Parts: sequence; structure tokens; C-alpha cells
Amino acid sequence: MSVAIVRSLSTLRSVVTRWKRAGETVAVVPTMGALHAGHLSLVRTGRKLADRLVVTLFVNPKQFNNPDDLANYPRTENDDAVKLGPLGVDVLYAPDATTMYPEGFATTVSVTGVSEGLCGAHRPGHFDGVATVVTKLLMQTGADIALFGEKDFQQLHVIRRLVRDLDIPVEIRTCPTVREPDGLALSSRNARLTDEQRKTANALAQILYASANRLTAGEETSAVLPGARAALLKAGFASVEYLELRAENDLRPLERADVLSRLLAAVWLNDVRLIDNMPVQPST
Ligand code: AMP
Repeated sequence: MSVAIVRSLSTLRSVVTRWKRAGETVAVVPTMGALHAGHLSLVRTGRKLADRLVVTLFVNPKQFNNPDDLANYPRTENDDAVKLGPLGVDVLYAPDATTMYPEGFATTVSVTGVSEGLCGAHRPGHFDGVATVVTKLLMQTGADIALFGEKDFQQLHVIRRLVRDLDIPVEIRTCPTVREPDGLALSSRNARLTDEQRKTANALAQILYASANRLTAGEETSAVLPGARAALLKAGFASVEYLELRAENDLRPLERADVLSRLLAAVWLNDVRLIDNMPVQPST
């Protein structure tokens, strides 16, 4: 049995109001659909944390800086609803673009600082789009808890910042990245990889993992990252957009892992862009 789909904001609001009047807590998992086991881990965690669970499905045009990426983004709503059926999801909120951005919509939520560099430097407007839609989804659902994946690590920082700055009464919870057995981080965009590209793609996680180990052992980024970049190109990636060590708590750039850190990368395989990140334990 698939989950009940709600498309209108007024229906969503009346359902959530009923729950809240009964004293129930609400969790939300925002997604762009094409659900995979990474999304489902957020859903399973959310199920345990609140009385009610809303999953949102909206392919947000404002966060796509590349029109081809938006056009090619996988859309599998019926399958998504079926996957959510057995997981105890109360509502799948799947608004259309005019519900989210009606005629005359003119507001942008823009987070500075943590949104700069990394993906922010290469995808102009992307984090404004993310911040705007996430703010709306949090206000629309009135959720007490919202769940996001570490897979999109910079996004997580942007969301934490906007929730604090705008006093949105929601607790942000995170889930670790779910991976294929060979290490590739699950992503809706993986569906666009050819068989050959899929074989190349696993090198990203492997090279990040090996580099993270060297950084934990105390080597500096200048000794580790140029070789890792070369290894990514040799493995078959067309280009490396960024490969950087940042502090886990505030994303400041680091030369060595003297605090808990993250190694973050974005690479291209033909026209498919993959991102990944790994925790780097502090070197002692
Ligand atoms: P998306 O549909 O790509 O916007 O992702 C929706 C949510 O799922 C975001 O919070 C992502 O960080 C999270 N997510 C995406 N891929 C994974 C993964 N492989 N493991 C865990 N969470 C993920």
C-alpha cells in the first residue's frame, strides 16, 4: 500500500493542526524524490523520533543552477509513494511549483558564510534556492524535528544557520551517508550513470577514504590532496571541481586535521556531477 499524497498547503495545514491539537509531535524529511536507501534511512530515523512523519517531495527549480540538470532530474513519484508505504509515513507532501512559488513570489532566503566556497562557489544561487525552499517546508509543515543527510554536508550547515538565524522552532537531526557496497554514496543522480561510469564512480569514495586516513595520520593537505586530485583524474573523472579539508563544526578551511574535520569533494563524470564527503578524525 502506498502512502497518502497531499498536494495542497491547506490540506497539509489542517492535518498537521489536528495532530498538534492532539499533542502529537511531527518530524519531516524533505526530499526531491527518486528515493533510495539514503532517503529511507532518514525516514526510518524520523519514524522513531516523532509521533507523526511527513516526507516532502518537491524538485525545487530554484536550487538548480543548470537547466539540463533540472530537466534530467529523475522523477519517480509513484515508486516513491510505494517505497514509503511500509515505513509508517503519515503523509507524502508533494506540492506543485505554483503551490510553492505562486504568481508574484518575491522572497529569497540567503545565508552567507557557510554557503560560500565548495558547492556555493560552483553552483551560483544553489544555496539560496535550498535555503528558501527548506524555510518554506519547515514553516508549511510546522515540524518539531527535521532530518537531513550528511551526504550534503555544506547544505546541512546552511540549514542549521538559517534555523538559528530565523528562530524557526525545529530541531535538526542528521543521518550518516548510506553507501553502495563498493563505497559509492547513494544519490538520485547515480541513476544517470552508464555502466562504465558507475565502475569509475566508486573511485571517489575510495580515494576520499585513503586521503582521510593520511590526513588523520598527520599529513598536511599540501602533501595529500594534489595526489588525490591526480588519482581522481586517472581513475576517469573528467574534472575535479573541488577537493578540500574543512572543519566539521564551521567549515573553515584547514591545512591539517588538527580538529575533527571533513574532506569534501565534487567531481564530474561526463555531464553527471557527484559529491561526497568523509569525516576526518583529528590527528594526534
Ligand atoms: P535529495 O532528495 O537529494 O534532496 O536529498 C534529500 C535528503 O536525503 C537530504 O537531506 C540528503 O542529504 C539526504 N541524502 C541524500 N543521499 C543520501 C545518502 N546517500 N545517505 C543519507 N542521506 C542522503
